[in-house]
Amino acid sequence: MIPSSPSFRWPDGKRFACSFSWDDGRVADRRVVEIHDRYGIKGTFHLNSGSLDTEGTVTRAELPELFAAHEVSLHSVHHPFPTRIPASAWLRDVLENKEDLEAVMNAPVRSASWPFGDFDGESIQALRLCGVECCRSTVSHGTLRIPSEEEWLRFPTTCHFSTKTAELWRSLTAKPGRTGWFSVWSHSFEIEDRNEWDALEALCAALGDDGEVWPATVIEVFDYVTAWRRLRWSVDHTRVWNPSALTVWAEVGGTCAGLAPGLSFPSR
Ligand SMILES: [Zn+2]
Repeated sequence: MIPSSPSFRWPDGKRFACSFSWDDGRVADRRVVEIHDRYGIKGTFHLNSGSLDTEGTVTRAELPELFAAHEVSLHSVHHPFPTRIPASAWLRDVLENKEDLEAVMNAPVRSASWPFGDFDGESIQALRLCGVECCRSTVSHGTLRIPSEEEWLRFPTTCHFSTKTAELWRSLTAKPGRTGWFSVWSHSFEIEDRNEWDALEALCAALGDDGEVWPATVIEVFDYVTAWRRLRWSVDHTRVWNPSALTVWAEVGGTCAGLAPGLSFPSR
């Protein structure tokens, strides 16, 4: 008999993770946070150090409280086109952004998004040298696909937010047995300009209400997926070791189980 292979699950055996990613740190982020918090949804907010405290943007002083339940993430100091400036200038722009936000948040800041969605091999290498572990592009694939390990420094999302996003969520998750990551990005000023607040609220309500959804920041998804990929399985998939610091979940033969940090199954 061939034993069934374990399949991927999110924390608590959930089938889907959902993440929202917002660029540029504009004041309308405050309304996004309000809506996310109402439904238990998590946001990742990509901030430019060079424009904080200027007209129309959020202030340094409010960041720790405003984003307490969310993730503060990098978006460079000056928002250049990364491939149009020398690699050293891009590297400095990222490093200064990282130092600044880490001082404000009093914690390491490990993820980013690409200004203008613009990158190449050299600008990716600069991010890596700065200690950035994942960086969102502006490319969408319209699916629930989880980025491969090689993609994390330029990962695509499910979609850019629009009034059709809730419909996409329903169609992607309608088929039984599906799992994956529903990731959405936009700018809060776009929601304001197009008056899409009701559509955003309805989507957050639907996601927050769904027992199969794990609302997570980008870095939480990155850390969880990385921990899952580091599980060490025996060839026949009946023995496993979790070397990470996170409880990792899998489904085997119709049953979900979590494996605590550092533990093996069967236990030793
Ligand atoms: Zn931007």
